[in-house]
Amino acid sequence: MPLYEYACRECGARFERMRKTADRLSAPACPACTSGETMLVMSVTGGVGGASARAAAAAPACEGGHGPCCGGGACMN
Ligand SMILES: [Zn+2]
Repeated sequence: MPLYEYACRECGARFERMRKTADRLSAPACPACTSGETMLVMSVTGGVGGASARAAAAAPACEGGHGPCCGGGACMN
């Protein structure tokens, strides 16, 4: 299930919810003030931050064995 970000119209809180794509527009209640006046902000899954974080974690270990510090090339540390 994709992760969506919602914003509360009452208190301005932002929160994330796992929703089926078909259910993304049915607003969940705000966890901060329990208001049902929330709106979909964006889909979080596949966002720029998440993608770059995963890429960094998947980088190959450098020759010196220090982990993904050198992008897999000659180790500078
Ligand atoms: Zn709220």
